[in-house]
Amino acid sequence: MTDLTIQMAQTQTIETTKESKIQELENKIKALETEIEELKYNPLSYDGTVYRDKKDHPYCPTCYDTHGQKVHLHKPISGRNCYYCQACNAKYFEK
Ligand SMILES: [Zn+2]
Repeated sequence: MTDLTIQMAQTQTIETTKESKIQELENKIKALETEIEELKYNPLSYDGTVYRDKKDHPYCPTCYDTHGQKVHLHKPISGRNCYYCQACNAKYFEK
């Protein structure tokens, strides 16, 4: 290969890498846009114990009502019917 051919091949590789990186970032942006839309149109709903989103993830009602913060609740290993908030230490029992 001549120097020019090598140079052209290298440029092409760089271009391909750039293209795939752009594609990767565009996919990430699309995923984030979808997430934003979901957050806009799917506010949390109260089920009598905790707030839940459309995907049925539980959120702390105390943190949401007082600070407007969406704190995802965790289930402690010992109590199967209990949710635990890491932010305010509150416990919520399932109905
Ligand atoms: Zn909380």
